[in-house]
Amino acid sequence: MTSDTKQTEPAAQETENLRELITRARYVLFDFDGPICRLFAGHKAELIAEGQVRWLEQRGLHGLLTEVERQVPDPHEVLRAVDRRHAGSDLVAELEERLTQQELRAVPSALPTPYADPLIRTWTAVGSRLSITTNNSPRAVREYLATRGLEECFLPHIYGRTQDLHLLKPHPHCLNRALNALGADAESALMIGDTPSDFQAAERAGVPFLGYARNARKEKLLRASGAEHIVNSLEPVLKVLRNQA
Ligand SMILES: [Mg+2]
Repeated sequence: MTSDTKQTEPAAQETENLRELITRARYVLFDFDGPICRLFAGHKAELIAEGQVRWLEQRGLHGLLTEVERQVPDPHEVLRAVDRRHAGSDLVAELEERLTQQELRAVPSALPTPYADPLIRTWTAVGSRLSITTNNSPRAVREYLATRGLEECFLPHIYGRTQDLHLLKPHPHCLNRALNALGADAESALMIGDTPSDFQAAERAGVPFLGYARNARKEKLLRASGAEHIVNSLEPVLKVLRNQA
């Protein structure tokens, strides 16, 4: 593209799409880790996944995971893999509780996502209803929100991981819980998430989706999953909202 017009037109269209997504949303469902904070900023998720694998090994359960699963740097994937083989077992419950404890321990070193706090407050101020729909423990979410003074913007609508691990996103379960509790139509809501599983869950629930990608790698993954509307910062979202207020 050489001419300025060709470069500005798609940008203007994107701004218009963003404006429409945001102004239509009367209910906003936030994923937690990513759009609101980086939970494991100081407390690496891959180390937690490694710890889970070691913990299983120490119990003679090395064979429970495939070689590929043992290398996965995501604690939720390890949990899900164990659950597929031993759904509802004490082993899964213990592993889940251990992950919750790790998430709680990560809260003090979590990094707030830039513009997330004012965005949450502004959205609340203009009368939208907010909810958190996450694969993390709702206990960790509540604790983080308390450190930022943001609980009242969401409570009681925090829908996180339960013992039913097969209902984690991409299953739309937590979104449907939020919609039901808020008495919201899917089309009047907006999900903000940072992973393909957020997009897939939103799609299954019929909720419009805005992707938040803090880097090119995240954006590529979201685009590959089919997400159309993606921002690299929450700042333009906040701007649209302020102009609308
Ligand atoms: Mg996330």
